[in-house]
Amino acid sequence: MSASADTQAKTKVTALPGDGIGPEVMDATIKILTAANAPIEWEFAEAGAKAFERGVVTGVPRETLDSIATNKLALKSPLETPIGYGGKSANVTMRKFFELYANIRPVRELPGIATPFSGRGIDMVIVRENVEDVYAGIEHMETTGVAQCLKLMTAPGCERIIRAAYGLALAEERQTVTVAHKANIMKLTEGMMKRMGEKVAREFPGIRASQIIIDNCAHQLVIKPEAFDVIVTSNMNGDIISDLAAGLVGGLGIAPSSNLGDNAAIFEAVHGSAPDIAGKDMANPTALLSASIMLLRHIGAFDIAETVEQALFVTLAEGRNLTGDLAPRGHGVGTKAFTDQVIANLGRASAMRSRSYKKLELAAWPKLTAHAEPTDRELVGIDIFLETDMGAEQLGKTLEELSKYSPFKLTGISNRGVSVYPPTGGETFLVDHFAARFMLDTPFSLNNTTTAGQPEISYLVQRIGSKFTWMHIEKLQRFDGKDGFERPQGEG
Ligand code: NAP
Repeated sequence: MSASADTQAKTKVTALPGDGIGPEVMDATIKILTAANAPIEWEFAEAGAKAFERGVVTGVPRETLDSIATNKLALKSPLETPIGYGGKSANVTMRKFFELYANIRPVRELPGIATPFSGRGIDMVIVRENVEDVYAGIEHMETTGVAQCLKLMTAPGCERIIRAAYGLALAEERQTVTVAHKANIMKLTEGMMKRMGEKVAREFPGIRASQIIIDNCAHQLVIKPEAFDVIVTSNMNGDIISDLAAGLVGGLGIAPSSNLGDNAAIFEAVHGSAPDIAGKDMANPTALLSASIMLLRHIGAFDIAETVEQALFVTLAEGRNLTGDLAPRGHGVGTKAFTDQVIANLGRASAMRSRSYKKLELAAWPKLTAHAEPTDRELVGIDIFLETDMGAEQLGKTLEELSKYSPFKLTGISNRGVSVYPPTGGETFLVDHFAARFMLDTPFSLNNTTTAGQPEISYLVQRIGSKFTWMHIEKLQRFDGKDGFERPQGEG
């Protein structure tokens, strides 16, 4: 070890060797980083299968959470999500516990890894919102045959991930930030991400802002992947397109990612624990090693990050010592031999240059600006979700009768989001789950009060509840004169 490395202050990082091939790829990564004099002191901790087996229901023991909370940094190998016992995913537990809202997944063509897209110069980063959206897992069985999942997206949640994308574009000297969304269909949730993209973009005139509908994004990723630079998107969209993008450059086995929050960051391989090859000296450590290179840049060790990255590029480009997943059939070497080769290549330069990087600064919560309160808020109606086998027309007449002494007037009924009353002539297949929309002629002001409209809602719900099972009620609000709700498909 060089004198400069001895004297350099070391950053403590929690290392989670994880399950399956996890300990092997962690061992390889730490060996390479140690050989490169990375200024890191490792603190080993447990998470995953062993924790589940000894009854830790989250898969992450308290001591591990404490270690990450103290060090604020972790390098994590894959963790098994046990089927049949435990319950939670240990990965999701950590993401949520530390509010690691930004999932950063670089996708870059690597030397020596031949794919149908080789030579196109793919070099993009997908910035995936990591804690909101349908991934919040707020699900209910509404009737015996109708399940619901809430897609919750928030203004601060959208703002901070968009800002993370711009921060990353600045840190990596990238030119374009593309917001990928489904705002054409989900105007309020996905639309919030799109609008926030437009708003935040105005603060970064030096970066080109673009937006694309997510399905076209998937299409363009396959047709013209080299055209993308930074893509920022919601959780579910990001989950899918980041795996797709990883496939363009060689697959999940080589894809790294980071999970960043205001107070902690966890770096990991995208792949899982590959139990079929565990303990056989067959695993490719490239993904975790690449994640550790991201970690080095995160702590400002740019030179060492580049040295390790260049050694990896040289090893891959030479192609003589590749693990079985990358080498021609029968010509693969083991994890250990690959690791030794990367170590032997430390100090060598590859024809493929590393990008230039600065530290990525996330905008901390108090600095977020978009979460402005509306000055005027009104209650204009309610949707009542109820269960019945009645036909739409009979249901409409019954609800009109039940609501005749209420200020809320039935304006329509929808089934799975399609207007079915008043009759439209459409051929909607009806399930036993209807949304009845009742509007007020005169809205209630909700400014400075939480009780406006409550007795009237209670009266109506009681009347409807005397005849039907209702599941939930949704208030229809107007914020500063703008409807905070959508109309069902086909409503006249
Ligand atoms: P996987 O572990 O990624 O493995 C799928 C296949 O990919 C393996 O069988 C292996 O294929 C290949 N592979 C993956 N990583 C490799 C590497 N580093 N080197 C060489 N080959 C590699 O996916 P899975 O089988 O669906 O999941 C297994 C477990 O991992 C599950 O318990 C799952 O919950 C967990 N998981 C954890 C994470 C995480 O911690 N972030 C992510 C995903 C999955 P061959 O058959 O060709 O050898």
